[in-house]
Amino acid sequence: MPKKHGKRHRGQSGAGPAATDAADVSAAAPGNAAERPPSSARWVRAAPDLERHGPDPAATPPIRVAPGIVTVAPGAPFRLADVDPDASEGLDKAWAKEALAAERGRIQALQERLYAEHRRSLLVVLQAIDTGGKDGTIRAVLEGVNPQGCTVSSFKVPSADELDHDFLWRYHARVPRRGMIGVFNRSHYEDVLVVRVKGLVDDAVWRARYGLINDFERLLAASGTTILKFLLHISKNEQRERLEARIADPDKHWKFDPADLVERKSWDAYQAAFQDAMIQCSTSHAPWHVVPANRKWFRNYVIARSIADTLEAMDPRYPEATKGISDLKVPD
Ligand code: ADP
Repeated sequence: MPKKHGKRHRGQSGAGPAATDAADVSAAAPGNAAERPPSSARWVRAAPDLERHGPDPAATPPIRVAPGIVTVAPGAPFRLADVDPDASEGLDKAWAKEALAAERGRIQALQERLYAEHRRSLLVVLQAIDTGGKDGTIRAVLEGVNPQGCTVSSFKVPSADELDHDFLWRYHARVPRRGMIGVFNRSHYEDVLVVRVKGLVDDAVWRARYGLINDFERLLAASGTTILKFLLHISKNEQRERLEARIADPDKHWKFDPADLVERKSWDAYQAAFQDAMIQCSTSHAPWHVVPANRKWFRNYVIARSIADTLEAMDPRYPEATKGISDLKVPD
């Protein structure tokens, strides 16, 4: 990973190689100041290697997940039923709530650096069965993060327009741009999960998607996007309790969809679809991570810590100070 970082051209909207390779500030260069006053200075960013060549596709992605999360080893056998949804690593609830606040602070600080660096991005994929806790996780983990530095994309039943394109089209359009953290609340995996369980396409069609998803994620990884994929794993009993709580509390009725009761009858089919997706699409460039999620406080803490640790491993840096900037004068 190259260590040099360039200053982003002011007003430049985003991705793509810099218009020029020049790495200096013309206005600050001796002898140039008269022709080009600071007020109209045209800042030019250096072209870091990443912008011209992308990250090394063979490099191991800088992913770090917290103890207690189960990573599906690429190519190895895996049984989802072997992961205990109640697991909490012996942590204490009160401790974990305080620790969550500290992890959020780390995410906020690192996100600012990621944004300033403007070279790479982090994509967090959240999948779960109904009531699994995707919304609660997003609320708990991203609280306090600069809204300008993150995007949350929720994927529902595809529209007619979306169905008129390839299945990855709508997801690709929402991948976080450079400098951003992007969260997928449901994701491209729906196209091998609900689509399979409900028989919305032929078997051969969803089966072919595993390889296409792996290729898509390889493209993202090779373009500077680190991918953290979490399955929030709850038990069938826990789902019953959460559905009952929604029915019992009028303030939670808006969250309750009677269709969830029908979907619950397909519990086993969803578990099988999750397991196959994890086996087929846990790759070295984008491994799957199963989060024991019956205890919300444990789920929130380990996901926040994983995001913070991964951002730290990405090591985003503020761009180098522009040469001569401290000699500039603000005009009256
Ligand atoms: P959520 O449950 O995520 O809070 P909703 O209650 O609006 O949000 O449910 C979204 C619905 O969209 C889910 O039933 C999900 O299965 C469905 N969905 C998402 N992606 C697809 C897809 N690609 N094809 C079919 N259905 C999908």
